[in-house]
Amino acid sequence: MNKTDLEYFKLLLNSQLKELEERIGYSDIQKMTINDVLQDTLDIASADVDKNMLLRIRERESRLISKIKDALSRVEDGSYGICEKCGSDIPIKRLNARPVTSQCIECKEKEEALERAYGSKAFFPSEPAIQMNRKNFPIR
Ligand SMILES: [Zn+2]
Repeated sequence: MNKTDLEYFKLLLNSQLKELEERIGYSDIQKMTINDVLQDTLDIASADVDKNMLLRIRERESRLISKIKDALSRVEDGSYGICEKCGSDIPIKRLNARPVTSQCIECKEKEEALERAYGSKAFFPSEPAIQMNRKNFPIR
């Protein structure tokens, strides 16, 4: 990947990160407001639904934030745009569609096929700490 492309993705990732962090701040305010409004009502069930929905959205946003931060650290260490599994260049087209990706489409599809085959993510934990362990101690 050339320097211009790298700068472009760095800017793109940074602006996505900023936008998400601002939105998470906003959803905090939203959550408080919903709690305040529903405090005096007996409609506990729907209050829980709203809270769970917001929590799920927040969870997804937090996950995306850590993915963006990972991608930015790959920009810094020069490994951005290189597949972490097979080491081949990830096409710019794919990076444009999904700037946080760390795998080429072939490796990603293989991984997803395995997850589907086992029907569970238990064999492929998505916890960052566990993923790091797997990277450090690859199973042969
Ligand atoms: Zn690959």
